[in-house]
Amino acid sequence: MNSSAPHVSPPSAPLQAPDAAPAEGKQDFIRQIVRDDLASGKHLAIRTRFPPEPNGYLHIGHAKAICLDFGLAAEFGGRCNLRFDDTNPAKEDPEFVQAIQEDVRWLGFEWASLRHASDYFEVFYLAAEKLIRQGDAFVCDLSAEQVREYRGTLTAPGRESPFRGRSVDENLDLFRRMRAGEFADGARTLRAKIDMASGNINLRDPALYRIKKVAHQNTGDAWPIYPMYDYAHALGDAIEGITHSLCTLEFEDHRPLYDWCVERADLAGDPGLLEPLIARGLPAEAARPRQIEFSRLNINYAVMSKRKLSALVADGLVQGWDDPRMYTLQGLRRRGYTPAALRLFVDRLGISKQNSVIDYSVLEGALRDELDARAARRMAVVDPLRLVLANLPDGHAETLTFSNHPKDERLGQRAVPFSNVVWIERDDFAEVPPKGWKRLVPGGEVRLRGAGIVRCDEVIKDADGAIVELRGTLDPASRPGMEGANRKVKGTLHWVDAARGVPAELRLYDRLFSVADPDDESGGLTYRDHLNPDSRRVARGVIEPAAAQAAPEQGFQFERLGYFVADRRDHAPGAPVFNRSVTLRDTWAAKA
Ligand code: ATP
Ligand code: MG
Repeated sequence: MNSSAPHVSPPSAPLQAPDAAPAEGKQDFIRQIVRDDLASGKHLAIRTRFPPEPNGYLHIGHAKAICLDFGLAAEFGGRCNLRFDDTNPAKEDPEFVQAIQEDVRWLGFEWASLRHASDYFEVFYLAAEKLIRQGDAFVCDLSAEQVREYRGTLTAPGRESPFRGRSVDENLDLFRRMRAGEFADGARTLRAKIDMASGNINLRDPALYRIKKVAHQNTGDAWPIYPMYDYAHALGDAIEGITHSLCTLEFEDHRPLYDWCVERADLAGDPGLLEPLIARGLPAEAARPRQIEFSRLNINYAVMSKRKLSALVADGLVQGWDDPRMYTLQGLRRRGYTPAALRLFVDRLGISKQNSVIDYSVLEGALRDELDARAARRMAVVDPLRLVLANLPDGHAETLTFSNHPKDERLGQRAVPFSNVVWIERDDFAEVPPKGWKRLVPGGEVRLRGAGIVRCDEVIKDADGAIVELRGTLDPASRPGMEGANRKVKGTLHWVDAARGVPAELRLYDRLFSVADPDDESGGLTYRDHLNPDSRRVARGVIEPAAAQAAPEQGFQFERLGYFVADRRDHAPGAPVFNRSVTLRDTWAAKA
């Protein structure tokens, strides 16, 4: 199911600079259709649905669909259902059902009603009997292989099944026995009777039901037959009174079948078919939904199919579905992406029918823009080098006051401990500086952010010649509030007090793939061959106490280093663990 139709071209269009959404009122062709439908009175209110199949975790592509389905309903005062398209029991799991709900809520949306396609199995079944009675469906005994042979090709018409002429009575009898579990898996199917010569292969007597004696995560062993996706999807939309059924472009060629199913089953004209639902207290509003397709989200440096994401997890190439390098919503969340950042990203993409590949920097850019405005600033050192301020007494301790955000006073202030020994970043010091170096050198001066100006007097090395400590002098006239505080020096370094700083595990994440198109299998390679060996590095660093005290999932800008988030699973104030969400600047643009 959901197999891509042959007409879909690979996302080979050029990288797109996404159009920023206009400040008020998003303008895209779907919103225009909705506006027109409301203006003309075709609908008094709109209904949409987000229909994931619970066979994996949601990924960044789903975020686009979620923001569209739920966003439209919110913008136009309509309703959006969450519907699990659980018609393929073999691959589905309650674990995914739970996770999907959590993810949708985390993104900031709430469904009007939670549904399962499997809630409608009885209605689907009754509608199928109706199709049989109308002469619109028949039971076919061809094997899967024979069905393929009979189907024809894009250029050659198909041939009619020898079982196509069965009488209504025989079809009804056989279909009821399929339902009763009398036949083996794959022995028979129920097929729509449409047109074996249609130019659209989806209309060549497609299967509506298959026999599959597999327990279902929602209905257990109640059903030995399961409806096919196109049939279930169309009828599910009608049952819920969906007005605009939004899906991705690969379903464009399925739309005639979608419309066929809605029209022939005609649930709106046959309210009796909905009785099983009403008896179960499930509101049912049959209507004529309209399917509208939009382009999928594709991002370079990423893989997005659930199959590949599952394989990365199963083969231990990442550390689970919520590994911060994964493109799942759980992974992005653990990486430090916020719902607002993802919604901003989706807004910037816009909605169209144009297939394209979005540059990874657009995703990271949305996160930076969002966090720059909201994240409190802290100081952390990834690779600490001791700097002793020799003109301060041993055991000297003071507490400085820093504002949490340079542009937003509302984020308040914090206490930052300072003493005669601080950690600075090892690569902020060079004995032999390259040209243009603005950081510390022997005999040179830099500003320690918010503390004063320090001069490096002495470099202490171990027996092997490795630098173990610097000794310097803090200019007393350059301390905060002193008249020399604004004296110009070339560089400003971040630092952490050695006395009260807290050791921390800093996980430095980067893109999981090192090539733009990891799905490209030319040259016999697969996405596994393109894993970025530097996508995860773990550093033992040190952070200021106000960062260590963070709650899990709290994010900061660590000055000069990037945006970091306290790990959802592993962080504790006594043993802090931070994930780097994104660097301060796009370092990949330079590499390319
Ligand atoms: P995958 O191919 O990754 O397994 P899927 O399309 O099979 O994804 P579903 O659970 O069936 O996943 O998708 C639920 C909804 O999300 C569908 O409406 C689908 O069109 C939409 N969706 C899935 N992937 C994307 C994407 N990359 N961009 C936009 N919408 C998407
Ligand atoms: Mg699917």
